[in-house]
Amino acid sequence: MSTEKTIPATLIPGDGIGPEIVQSVVEILDTVGAPFKWEKALGGVAALDATGSPLPKETIESIRRTGLALKGPLTTPVGGGFKSINVTLRQEFGLFANVRPTKTIVPGGRFENINLVIFRENLEGYYAAMENYIPYGDDPHAIATSAGYTTRRECNRIVRYAFEYAVKNNRKRVTLVHKANILKLLTGLFLEEGRKVAKEYEGRVEVNERIVDACAMQLVTDPWQYDCIVTTNLFGDILSDLTAGLVGGLGLAPGANIGEKAAVFEAVHGSAPDIAGQNKANPTSLLLAANMMLAHVGRQDLATRIDKAIEKVITSGAVRTGDLGGKATTTELTAALKQALV
Ligand code: ATP
Ligand code: MG
Repeated sequence: MSTEKTIPATLIPGDGIGPEIVQSVVEILDTVGAPFKWEKALGGVAALDATGSPLPKETIESIRRTGLALKGPLTTPVGGGFKSINVTLRQEFGLFANVRPTKTIVPGGRFENINLVIFRENLEGYYAAMENYIPYGDDPHAIATSAGYTTRRECNRIVRYAFEYAVKNNRKRVTLVHKANILKLLTGLFLEEGRKVAKEYEGRVEVNERIVDACAMQLVTDPWQYDCIVTTNLFGDILSDLTAGLVGGLGLAPGANIGEKAAVFEAVHGSAPDIAGQNKANPTSLLLAANMMLAHVGRQDLATRIDKAIEKVITSGAVRTGDLGGKATTTELTAALKQALV
């Protein structure tokens, strides 16, 4: 098959360990002949220092042009009234679906054979962050309020995305996770739309329902019962960190933010300033995100090759980074992965 670089894609090195893991992933993608033609763009503190903005116009324009981005972690500067750059990106491009797969790679851990995907609604819920204080007596901040919202349209869209994914990827079941017993409208609407969409997939994909607190417990006591989970923004945020913890933590957790006109692929973890610039970071999360990006552009064949190399190297145990109990550097792991590809 052609190895020409025909697909323009935005590449954001980002902050902290970002440039190191991005470099590693690009080398591995080049080794398999991935078709991406990179447009380098700035984001995060790196962009703030260089241009005065954490998300420069050129970066937004590049993603608008390519509709595709691989992104290192971006540090949201504390103070100065900055809104999270990740949240801004999701809103700017209507990235409605946050897809976070969790799969056991390292055997011998507490949870083996985990293979599930969380679909998190990415634009609404309590992330709308419409918050206020109400004064009482002498205290101007006596009461704090937060108003979340969900729309029928977005609930329908995220659940439909999960079911379509299930069909395309031979997944058996989608679980609707909610709290409609308490948040009867906010998550009741999600459940109502979810049931409606599920009917269209009857006979093809099973559906069931869980209240979020019960789901959290079961993810720890019996995670194998779950296949695909679809849920609202805040619940998805929390549950996807939980599931990353089931399989060895942040070094192995990829994510995709999918919209109609753009998709942004990233590691679930942050910029890890404590190990930045030390050649210690595990690039695997971002590499797994790059695999999702390859699948997104129809090159599952290349993603499968990279997946196999990751499995081979990590299960052999000889070359592991510190987060997985090893001593290997980012460079050593990258070299081992490249070698395992041939
Ligand atoms: P940020 O503010 O950007 O989220 P953080 O200080 O919260 O940064 P995280 O990146 O979220 O840091 O990481 C939390 C911990 O996990 C840190 O100790 C970090 O070193 C470790 N960690 C995160 N990602 C990786 C990785 N890819 N490889 C190795 N260790 C990692
Ligand atoms: Mg963090």
